[in-house]
Amino acid sequence: MTDARCSCGAIALSLPGPSSLVVACHCTDCQRRTGAPFGVGAFYPVEEVKISGAPREYVRAAESGGKVRFHFCADCASTVYWSADNLPAMIGVAVGAIADPNGPAPIKSIFERSKHPWVEIVGAGIEHLEHGGARKSSS
Ligand SMILES: [Zn+2]
Ligand SMILES: [Zn+2]
Repeated sequence: MTDARCSCGAIALSLPGPSSLVVACHCTDCQRRTGAPFGVGAFYPVEEVKISGAPREYVRAAESGGKVRFHFCADCASTVYWSADNLPAMIGVAVGAIADPNGPAPIKSIFERSKHPWVEIVGAGIEHLEHGGARKSSS
């Protein structure tokens, strides 16, 4: 069992285990959201995530179309998870909220066109994309 929570613990998620889809995103919206040079999300099927607490919601337009809804703690301001209109079956969980240094590494690094040049996401078989990669060109 893996868990994610905000800084103060008011919002907590119960997760089924390590995610098989971890994505590092270098878009400027993720930079502003996290306050860090990039954001990392672990994606899970929505029905496998149990949410406790009453997060607030911030909605913005996604660069790839549709809207993204970020759920954050009103007390400590951590964003714990988000959902995208384009990907309604999945929930993105902030990898930092899981706080497990042994968790799975990203398999995709997206929006590298706005990546800070000193940031390098490394790993075997990792997919590097200049944009969001929302279009399904393969698989
Ligand atoms: Zn909190
Ligand atoms: Zn992003």
